[in-house]
Amino acid sequence: MKVEILTIFPTIFTNFLQTSLIGKATERNLLSVTVTDIRDFATPPHLQVDDAPYGGGAGMVMKPEPLTAAIESAKERLPKASVILLTPRGSQFSQSKAHEISTREQLILVCGRYEGIDQRVIDLLIDEELSIGDYVLMGGEVPAMVILESSVRLISQVIGNPSSLSEESFSTTGSAEKLLEAPQYTRPPEFRGACVPETLLSGDHEKIAAWRKEQSMQLTAKRRPDLVNPKE
Ligand code: SAM
Repeated sequence: MKVEILTIFPTIFTNFLQTSLIGKATERNLLSVTVTDIRDFATPPHLQVDDAPYGGGAGMVMKPEPLTAAIESAKERLPKASVILLTPRGSQFSQSKAHEISTREQLILVCGRYEGIDQRVIDLLIDEELSIGDYVLMGGEVPAMVILESSVRLISQVIGNPSSLSEESFSTTGSAEKLLEAPQYTRPPEFRGACVPETLLSGDHEKIAAWRKEQSMQLTAKRRPDLVNPKE
């Protein structure tokens, strides 16, 4: 997958892109990420990327000219990419959206700052608007990382044991429903007086699978009843 991230704070991504599975996927040529500074497309000497909103109001808005030039330049490098804007006004990002994005060859992620971006850029150049949740962050950089992390780990060969993907929260591969994952334990069998459930030590795979399913269903019903009875 080839990704270009457009931001006014490119250094936020430096460690992120070198670390853990994202770094390994890059080393193995499964992923290639370019981070582009939108300010490189602003006019000297001030390199201004924001301006006051028409109609008044608090905060600043990202100017259309530098952002448009940055997106058009990225589209020349990644002509098959859809252009995704991270915004709290976007449709809600989810595990199933991560699965869909993981199949794409190219992607351009646009990170907003200030109070957001000029609507004309959205109308002219943005294909999709995504939100990572009902809260407001300072910028689109963390949402871009969220989308990359959740999607890249679903690209085949990125994770050593792909069966772990089918058994985790929100997965529908292992069962018909989207359930939260059952509790997990590792050695030692007793820790500060708390013991690992007997079933997990039994070696009986059928019993273990049934225990996990039951735990998943109970946890999901308690914490996320919306997953058990989704509203259409
Ligand atoms: N004024 C905007 C609003 O009320 O919708 C919020 C702007 S926010 C301070 C600045 C930038 O952070 C946004 O343009 C967007 O790129 C990013 N952002 C903030 N919260 C986000 C979220 N929940 N999902 C995706 N992007 C978000």
